[in-house]
Amino acid sequence: MKTILDVANLKDKKILLRVDLDIPVSDEGQIEEPFRIKRQKETLDYLIGHGAKVVMAAHISAVPSFANLIPQLHTFLDYEINFLKTLPEISSYLEHYAGPALLDNIRQNDGEEKNDKEFAKQLAQGFDVYVNNAFAVCHRNHASVSAITELLSSYAGFLIEEEIASFKKAIDAPMAGKIVIIGGAKAETKVPVIKNLINRADFILTGGVVANDILKEKGQDMGSSVVDENSKELLAGLDINDPKLLVPEDFVVFDNKILDIGEKTLQKYADVVSRASVIIWNGPMGLFENPSFAMGTQKIAEAIANSNAYKIIGGGDTISAVSKFKIQNSKFNFISTGGGAMLAFLAGQRLPGLEALGYYKSAQ
Ligand code: ADP
Ligand code: MG
Repeated sequence: MKTILDVANLKDKKILLRVDLDIPVSDEGQIEEPFRIKRQKETLDYLIGHGAKVVMAAHISAVPSFANLIPQLHTFLDYEINFLKTLPEISSYLEHYAGPALLDNIRQNDGEEKNDKEFAKQLAQGFDVYVNNAFAVCHRNHASVSAITELLSSYAGFLIEEEIASFKKAIDAPMAGKIVIIGGAKAETKVPVIKNLINRADFILTGGVVANDILKEKGQDMGSSVVDENSKELLAGLDINDPKLLVPEDFVVFDNKILDIGEKTLQKYADVVSRASVIIWNGPMGLFENPSFAMGTQKIAEAIANSNAYKIIGGGDTISAVSKFKIQNSKFNFISTGGGAMLAFLAGQRLPGLEALGYYKSAQ
């Protein structure tokens, strides 16, 4: 996979940079968690520092447009950002380049999510080079991630390299001492990770709805707990009685719903965590947004933070939980910007965005 270090002579090169700025925004229009923005800075600094002309493209889900966020992006990125409302504005901007610019929400264009070639052609107009630094969208077959790479010579940014290297370090580490903690709600994206890693880890520790699904298939009465209707299909092919697969033994129950792991489970999990040498964590142990059901997630997060293992965490809610509990980011070796992309990578799936950058041809 070629990276930006391989671009010959960046000076005055017109670069389309796919960044990940899919950030949470409050009702008042404040950026609530700038983590993903800050993770773009290293690549942006490098390109700008070498004299490249950079136009960024990104999507955002929390609001329809980046328009009102530009002053805050300026603060977090430490550059004045020129705002380009529509695609046709790009080519003239490149002629009269005046510093880094951002095209408005790329998903406003119909062709983006369809991976449309015509749209990609319009997007490529006027650029010399394409750089993808948006790891979190690499599991999407979208025009600014995939089709664009057929039109411009394409390179990976530093963040993509770092994400892949961190995951590979964890996955390829010896099995002894390696544990994977999977919780949260989107079981269809999480169970494939369990299936892929169960024979490459000592233990998989489960919580949240993922654990509920397993317990339900084991025949436990789940009351009114949140479970997936299709849990049987989701879990097909996984031996749910595998001794490596740990499920909660006791719970915090409210209104006939399991909403957190119980004290006994917590102690057992914390003990497994304390003896691990590699830890991969995605997904809260319970409904942590409510303080009454946050204890399991908080104690597990603290146990991971205090362990000497090589530890990687990811997932939007997992990261907000950690920041809610005021645990410093520096307590973890790596915090992924990818939710779905992280899970797809850990599940051993081929990510279209990495495929387009030639990753599977070279690195594996
Ligand atoms: P992440 O974003 O970290 O990948 P998910 O989006 O998969 O995590 O899941 C997080 C959500 O799961 C949180 O909103 C949390 O409240 C919810 N959750 C966790 N455990 C339970 C539970 N037992 N019952 C209902 N919701 C749960
Ligand atoms: Mg989530």
